[in-house]
Amino acid sequence: MMAQFLEIKGRYPDALLFYRMGDFYEMFFDDAEAAASALDIALTKRGQHLGQDIPMCGVPVHSAEGYLLTLIRKGFRVAIAEQMEDPAEAKKRGSKSVVARDVVRLVTPGTLTEESLLEARRHNFLAAWAEVRDTAALAWVDISTGEFRVIPCPISRLSPELARLGAREVVVSETKEADLAGLVSDSGAAMTPLSRGSFDSTGAEKRLCELFDVATLDAFGSFDRAEASAMGAIVDYLDLTQRGKLPLLRPPVKEMPGGSVQIDAATRRNLEITQSLSGGRDGSLIAAIDRTVTAGGARLLERRLSAPSRDLAEIRARLEAVRFLAGEARLAEALRADLRKAPDIDRALSRLALDRGGPRDLAAIRAGLAEAGSIARRLDGDIPARLAGAAKDLVGFGDLVAYLDAALVAEPPLLARDGGFIAAGHNPELDEARQLRDEGRGVIARMQADYITETGIQSLKIKHNNVLGYFIETTATHAEKMLSAPLNETFIHRQTTANQVRFTTVPLSEMETRILNAGNLALEIEKRLYDGLKAMVLDTSVLISQAARALSEIDLTAAFADIARGEDWCEPTVDDSRAFEIEGGRHPVVERALKRTGEPFIANDCLLTSGETPAIWLLTGPNMAGKSTFLRQNALLALLAQAGSFVPARRAHIGLVSQLFSRVGAADDLARGRSTFMVEMVETAAILNQADDRALVILDEIGRGTATYDGLSIAWATLEHLHDVNRTRALFATHYHEMTALAHKLDGVENATVAVKEWEGEVIFLHEVRKGAADRSYGVQVARLAGLPTAVVERAKIVLDALEKGEREGGTRKHTLIDDLPLFSAAPAATARPVKQESQLEDRLSALHPDEMTPLEALAALYELKALT
Ligand code: ADP
Repeated sequence: MMAQFLEIKGRYPDALLFYRMGDFYEMFFDDAEAAASALDIALTKRGQHLGQDIPMCGVPVHSAEGYLLTLIRKGFRVAIAEQMEDPAEAKKRGSKSVVARDVVRLVTPGTLTEESLLEARRHNFLAAWAEVRDTAALAWVDISTGEFRVIPCPISRLSPELARLGAREVVVSETKEADLAGLVSDSGAAMTPLSRGSFDSTGAEKRLCELFDVATLDAFGSFDRAEASAMGAIVDYLDLTQRGKLPLLRPPVKEMPGGSVQIDAATRRNLEITQSLSGGRDGSLIAAIDRTVTAGGARLLERRLSAPSRDLAEIRARLEAVRFLAGEARLAEALRADLRKAPDIDRALSRLALDRGGPRDLAAIRAGLAEAGSIARRLDGDIPARLAGAAKDLVGFGDLVAYLDAALVAEPPLLARDGGFIAAGHNPELDEARQLRDEGRGVIARMQADYITETGIQSLKIKHNNVLGYFIETTATHAEKMLSAPLNETFIHRQTTANQVRFTTVPLSEMETRILNAGNLALEIEKRLYDGLKAMVLDTSVLISQAARALSEIDLTAAFADIARGEDWCEPTVDDSRAFEIEGGRHPVVERALKRTGEPFIANDCLLTSGETPAIWLLTGPNMAGKSTFLRQNALLALLAQAGSFVPARRAHIGLVSQLFSRVGAADDLARGRSTFMVEMVETAAILNQADDRALVILDEIGRGTATYDGLSIAWATLEHLHDVNRTRALFATHYHEMTALAHKLDGVENATVAVKEWEGEVIFLHEVRKGAADRSYGVQVARLAGLPTAVVERAKIVLDALEKGEREGGTRKHTLIDDLPLFSAAPAATARPVKQESQLEDRLSALHPDEMTPLEALAALYELKALT
């Protein structure tokens, strides 16, 4: 057995080997040690190898999924070796022969299909990046839904694309492993190097043509060598991990690089689109606006928010559909009620294709398609093209649904193995076998009654176990009677246990054989029928997955309509201009958070003048005033509009945005080991090098990470560059008031400020954005709000006054002024709280009463006090 283990393990050196032994998956040697510590399970020993104990651990097969999930999350890959024959077969070959085993699947982060291992509302993408001479491409697939795409992707675009997809695993050629390791791990994906052969573009075309059964790939569009290579590598890797069982892949779709808004990884993080800065979904944009009721709809929302469109016709078609459903509340509600009953067809289909499914997946497809039919009926008449198109994809499944309905019971079991899922009346042969089996059980019950009458033993029972089959059981005290009394029936002794004696009879064993045969026959028929139903569904899989996509589209449209209606969002005007005019805009996430506390969110306008000049707002105002919120809300509005949603504003006019950039000064990035200021500058450089005149740029406190004058100069030059060279639309928040002077110098720059009121020395935040520059920063007041000790706040005011005075009197005075203000000069007495520090010496001193002391005692006390000093 160990020889077999080592042989299989030798083929999967990079994976933990789950070696099937009966009801357990066992792991040995290093695998056992790694798994035991990762899973926190007991490590034991089994036998010896080369004179050493073999470490071993194991997990039960029935609960293996949970353990698998933990291992995958911790970065392991797992090869699953199953028994390929019945142990009885192996025995027949000789008592020493080992059951044949082989790996049936390699489980990796990008190739999960189990419901329990996947997040229902998120995609699980596996990607491959390939480079052929001077072209490069990224292909990706979600094998749990079959989505398969490819995009031209030079290495400089790899990071943002991986960020957009949130890919879990990236396959690269082993020759590129070293170059890409950092980039891939930054994206949070696992990297898997494959041999160069897997990336060969000629072989790739052949593999793809075979897979999709076409003569040439041109059937799906024109692909260059890099694209073919990346797609081919994916297919090769799936073949490897699924051991020849390929998932249902939809034909590959080529995405155009200009098709969606470019959003790089830093911007995604900053805007907290699908994940909040703390890492979870909570607090992200998607969590705040997700009103979808199906998992497929939620995944579509994730895709749309991750890649808002740049195609005007597409955006308008989506908006038209949302507008229609927003106006038809009753219809939208009815659709959503139907959708709630529709299970996840995509994932059920993929499990069936990989032979990991069961009757419940067939039932899911039946239920999903049945709802599709009723949804299609609701969507007739004069409706927007988007919805009409989706409705068209939902019809035509009547026969399949009716057939599945007649064939399957209402709530089938998860696995086909134990039978019991084919409905009565569907197949006469099965009905007959089942009847025989069930009747047999009735006959046995009657036999028991007969034997009781015959023997007069009231406690006699007919029982069943896996070793003896059916047997008659009595207590030891009655056993004699069974064998000696003159009875019609001959009871044959089978077994004696501590208290019981077990018998059989000829009619009982005959009956048993009949029941067994009938039961086995019934199971066999059910399995055959299951395969037939599965084949029938898979034959229609292209249409079924089209229907699934249509359901997701309708779900998302209804979800957008729901939030538009419920939260008072407006339809944005999106066009080819360079306008960015928002009236009464709100931040959907902050607004939601405030709602819980009962505070109102203050809506704000953002009117970047359109036309040829760049349009930049320079925003000043104290900390906590709401600058970041304002900046982000405008970026989110653009993103939502181009994703096809209404937006939280009173009015919005948005000229197509091609790229979205958002940067925050000095964000901590210790995890990646770069200094915060360096990160900030690298990110700013990326914007200045890439942003075009259709970009929307948001810069929050750039330059904050360094000394004041450095920071100010960098911020200043950055703004000038955005204005003169990039000519973007931008919002630029800064606490450098000096920069407000730029508005007079550059015609595209306007000053804006978030208003605060000062009242009895305190600041009150109004959260209102107005034209003009902030008069001062109120930093000292904000510090007071934060609970800085009064003495420090008072001192800070004095320093500030002195500095401001210095500023007015010219730069050269500043240094002397700072010298005039020694860092540790005492706080004003009035604000210093008198605190009485009692020392031990004082304690002792106050305990003395000279009146009652002798001179000698006084002298002793004096020595004692002296010792305390
Ligand atoms: P800044 O960037 O100026 O330091 P933030 O944008 O972080 O300020 O906002 C600080 C807090 O003020 C937010 O957490 C939010 O609760 C509140 N806030 C911001 N904008 C608004 C608004 N428009 N209406 C109501 N509250 C707001």
